[in-house]
Amino acid sequence: MPELPEVETTVAGLRPVLEGQRLTLVEPRRADLRWPIPVDLRQRMTGAVVTSLGRRAKYGLVETDRGDMMIFHLGMSGRWRIDPEEIEKHDHLLLETESGHRLALNDPRRFGSLDIVRAADLANYRPFILMGPEPLGDDFIGEYLKIATRDRKAPIKQLLLDQRIVAGLGNIYVCEALHMAGISPQAKGGAISRPRYQRLVDAIKRVLIAAIAAGGSSLRDFVQPSGELGYFAKDWLVYGREGQACQCGALVQRRVDSGRSTFYCSRCQK
Ligand SMILES: [Zn+2]
Repeated sequence: MPELPEVETTVAGLRPVLEGQRLTLVEPRRADLRWPIPVDLRQRMTGAVVTSLGRRAKYGLVETDRGDMMIFHLGMSGRWRIDPEEIEKHDHLLLETESGHRLALNDPRRFGSLDIVRAADLANYRPFILMGPEPLGDDFIGEYLKIATRDRKAPIKQLLLDQRIVAGLGNIYVCEALHMAGISPQAKGGAISRPRYQRLVDAIKRVLIAAIAAGGSSLRDFVQPSGELGYFAKDWLVYGREGQACQCGALVQRRVDSGRSTFYCSRCQK
């Protein structure tokens, strides 16, 4: 499932083929993904020049010279294909650029989304209204997390997955960052000290930056032979490693809360 680093990697992969390009064809091939695709997306994007690409949480942003912002979410299975040899059943949006590139947004399970808003109104896009800061942003610091979780008795892991506290963190990165910071996933949010929160913030940024760097290096391999922007596998320290040795020698444990697995080391994480 695409997480923040994969979305960042995807945006980086799209930038060289889309930025500065006029879109000569914009063709949604169905009416909806997870929710309806705006009926005016085709008309607003066709003929527009892409001025920049960006990311907010796990949403990709494509801005045009008309002041519009196309917003895509990759859901569970979405990916962009660059210059695919053939269009497939699950290619739900086609783009063509003036320089002759063709792009397809492919999403077999259709948990993704496609929207278009005025760029100036981006903060009022419904999923963004209550969204917390970007984990890689300068305002995401230990002090912020301390205040945002004040008096909260919920486990820190649950709080970190709450998009209102911090945007776009998924299960894998939360498990890995908590391990790196030595904090138990079950620790009550309100009881964690400022220094420990600063360690946690540093760990979150390190884990994400490492994943983005790994994605960037795998991107080259992905784009050239297959034309697809893919996701990279990584050797995690705890995620998916139940029963295997942690670097401290103890065994990695797993617990399941409301269907979601948490991997952790009870020796390293308090
Ligand atoms: Zn350990």
